[in-house]
Amino acid sequence: MAQGTTMVCTNCQFSLEAWEDGNPYGIDADKLLIEGLSRQEAKVHFYHPRQPPDGAFEFGVDVPHLCLACASEFCVDSEEPTSTCPSCQSPKICDLCELESKTCPKCGRGTFVSDGFMIS
Ligand SMILES: [Zn+2]
Ligand SMILES: [Zn+2]
Repeated sequence: MAQGTTMVCTNCQFSLEAWEDGNPYGIDADKLLIEGLSRQEAKVHFYHPRQPPDGAFEFGVDVPHLCLACASEFCVDSEEPTSTCPSCQSPKICDLCELESKTCPKCGRGTFVSDGFMIS
């Protein structure tokens, strides 16, 4: 079971869903080794159901992040971590679960507040 929360900007209603444990994935060995796909392409996310797929190895987690400079959303791979935004190269990136009280990059005026919890 996973717990998530919705983060909402107090000014512009920009909102994001944040799940505390990110998006787990496994690498499909067949796709990687036999079909020759890249590591990124061979990823199988198993958010629902939370069962690793058959034949998967090298498990990791894609953790959703928001760039506080350009507002782009992207995932940081736990196995290949990055500390800058892939769109604008800004180091001002933030884990969605840690957005509370950060300034909203869409409007630049509001801050994020948690708007209730969700269970999956
Ligand atoms: Zn805003
Ligand atoms: Zn950015």
